[in-house]
Amino acid sequence: MPLYVFRCATCPDVDRAFTMAAVPDEIDCATCGASARRVITTVASGADPLATRLLDATGATADRPAVVASVPGGGRPTRRVTTDPRHRRLPRP
Ligand SMILES: [Zn+2]
Repeated sequence: MPLYVFRCATCPDVDRAFTMAAVPDEIDCATCGASARRVITTVASGADPLATRLLDATGATADRPAVVASVPGGGRPTRRVTTDPRHRRLPRP
């Protein structure tokens, strides 16, 4: 059951669990009894923090890819990448 945040005018935010079909727009504040409105927040994925950092980094490179001036690793590979003899007949740059 998802948690929803409700905010009263004077009290700290309160988390309450409701089903998605039954979530009200307002509840009575448990502290002062005034009306507390539901606050729209970001979705908490509950994912592993490391996975979240990886997803954020991946998203950042999708928007701003790093531009390089040379091939990482210093140019042409010194060792053979493939052993398939048909690959030697492929055109070279
Ligand atoms: Zn209150």
